[in-house]
Amino acid sequence: MSHLAYIGIGSNLGTPLENCQRSLNLLENHPEISVLSRSSFYETEPIGPQDQNWFLNSVAEISTDMEPIPLLDALLAIEVAMGRIRKERWGPRIIDLDILLYGNSVIKTSRLEIPHPEINRRRFVLAPLAELVPKLIHPTARKTIQRLLSELPEDKKVVRL
Ligand code: ATP
Ligand code: CA
Ligand code: CA
Ligand code: CA
Repeated sequence: MSHLAYIGIGSNLGTPLENCQRSLNLLENHPEISVLSRSSFYETEPIGPQDQNWFLNSVAEISTDMEPIPLLDALLAIEVAMGRIRKERWGPRIIDLDILLYGNSVIKTSRLEIPHPEINRRRFVLAPLAELVPKLIHPTARKTIQRLLSELPEDKKVVRL
C-alpha cells in the first residue's frame, strides 16, 4: 500500500543547494520512493549552536510503499552515502533527512517519533510544509499547518529563495 509522507531536508555544509538537490535525486532514485513535489528552498538561521552557517531547508512530498522504520533506514542510508558524520546535536551537517509526517500515523518509539516532535516549533519546517499542504491537519496538534505557522511566535529567520 502506498503512503504519503513529508520529508524535511536540510544542509549547511559544503554547497547546501547541491546537497539538497542531490538528496532529492537519491530519494527519487530509491525504488520504493517517488518524490511527488517539493517546496521552495529556504535560507534559515540555525537552531542550536550559533557558530555555524545558515541552513538551506526544503520539504519533499513523497509516496512510498515502505513502512516508517524501513523509510527511516532509507533516509539514514542516503545521509551516510552523502558522507554525513554525526557529531554534536543540531551541529553542522551535509544533509539531514527527517520524516515529518507519515500519513496520519502517530508513532513514538526510541528510534522514531512521527509526527516529528519539533514541527510545531520550527518555522524552517512549517514554512515549506505550508507551501505544499496548508490545509493538512497535524495528527496530534489537530490544527492545520497554516494555523500552526501563523501561531508561531517570531523566532529564527527564514528567507524563501
Ligand atoms: P532533530 O530530530 O531535533 O531535528 P537531528 O535531525 O539533528 O535533530 P539526528 O542526529 O539527525 O537529529 O537524528 C537522531 C535520531 O533521531 C535518528 O537516528 C533517528 O533514530 C531519530 N528520529 C526520531 N524520530 C525521527 C524522525 N521523525 N525522522 C528522522 N529521525 C528521527
Ligand atoms: Ca523512485
Ligand atoms: Ca533534523
Ligand atoms: Ca535527522
